[in-house]
Amino acid sequence: MTEVLVIGGGPAGAAAAILLARGRARVTLVEREAAAREKVCGEFLGPDAAALLDGLGLSLPALGALPIEGARLAAGRHEAGWRLPFGAWSLPRAVLDEALLALAIESGAKVLRGAAVSTAWRDGADWCARLSGGDLLRGGALVLATGKHELRGHARPKLGGAVGLKLPLQLAAPLPEAVMLLPFRGGYAGLQPRPGGGANLCAALQRVEAADSRALLARVSAGSARAAELLRGAEPLLPRPMAVAGVPYGFRHRDGPSPDPGLYRVGDQFAVVPSLAGDGVAMALAGGEEAARAILAGRPAPACHAALDHRLDRPMRWAGLLARGLDRAPGALALAARLSPALARLAAAQTRMPGFSAA
Ligand SMILES: Cc1cc2nc3c(=O)[nH]c(=O)nc-3n(C[C@H](O)[C@H](O)[C@H](O)COP(=O)(O)OP(=O)(O)OC[C@H]3O[C@@H](n4cnc5c(N)ncnc54)[C@H](O)[C@@H]3O)c2cc1C
Repeated sequence: MTEVLVIGGGPAGAAAAILLARGRARVTLVEREAAAREKVCGEFLGPDAAALLDGLGLSLPALGALPIEGARLAAGRHEAGWRLPFGAWSLPRAVLDEALLALAIESGAKVLRGAAVSTAWRDGADWCARLSGGDLLRGGALVLATGKHELRGHARPKLGGAVGLKLPLQLAAPLPEAVMLLPFRGGYAGLQPRPGGGANLCAALQRVEAADSRALLARVSAGSARAAELLRGAEPLLPRPMAVAGVPYGFRHRDGPSPDPGLYRVGDQFAVVPSLAGDGVAMALAGGEEAARAILAGRPAPACHAALDHRLDRPMRWAGLLARGLDRAPGALALAARLSPALARLAAAQTRMPGFSAA
């Protein structure tokens, strides 16, 4: 088999590279970051992510992940708490992404770190990728896994976009092993404990607004008495939150009338699930898995995209509904969850990929 090029070493690209290498394909993965780095992410991993990682040979508990057993939603004067109907975990992305890249190398993939692809194009039967240093790579198939970053010539359509923020914190009092959903004016946040202490505050804002860490804490605290209580005395570990703008929540790739059979889109380049409502990491791992299977079996990209779209359909729809509720009617959502925790558990289960929602 000819070489496969994978651009991007997040969960989607790494999963594809691991499975391609294990399937005896020659694979080169290019990741622009030279070393482990924090990423804007709530770091909540559900049973679908855990099962997909298990399938690759990575165990979340062995990586030091912290179990997350419950969820709580506090909006204004309404509040609800429920046990999650499945196992879930908190793990820093720097740890997860490094473990996946190490496994890709161990599986036999060639991994180029600290090298960015500046452009990629089709040349006859091949795909070519130019590295920013000038080197040229060639392969029979290209896996586009650049996450939220667009590759010149292959950008997703502009869909407006929200802003994602992440702020690691030291809290005055430890959090329970639960994810807290904290809507506030103009957005909503997720707060959960991190392994080894501290917490991760992650927010999805409807529009770009400059905010330093203290201003973000004040905004989230204003959303409910519970948020104010949890964040009282919190010490931000960064002067400004990490930010990513133009996040196209709800984006789903659609092939045009004459799609390239050798260009496989995965992860956030294929679909972007609303933050804190569904697991983007699980979907990225599923995309990497689907692309690797298709390439090894000689199935063209449009068939791979159709299969992946089918797998992601339910969580995309349910996470979209949940995110709309958090943005537009968070009090009503909290009230409904308080009156019927069973309904909250059912909704949480529906945001998982089919086949992965059991405890
Ligand atoms: C605010 C927010 C909160 C979130 N919370 C959660 C959560 O709690 N749980 C969850 O499961 N998901 C969450 N997500 C979603 C999740 O972070 C993404 O869906 C997931 O990271 C997608 O994986 P990926 O592999 O497609 O992309 P990424 O993880 O973004 O990886 C892409 C990689 O490609 C590299 N790259 C980019 N361009 C190039 C290039 N030209 N050349 C070489 N390398 C390149 C980047 O350096 C990066 O490492 C959240 C997202 C946001 C914005």
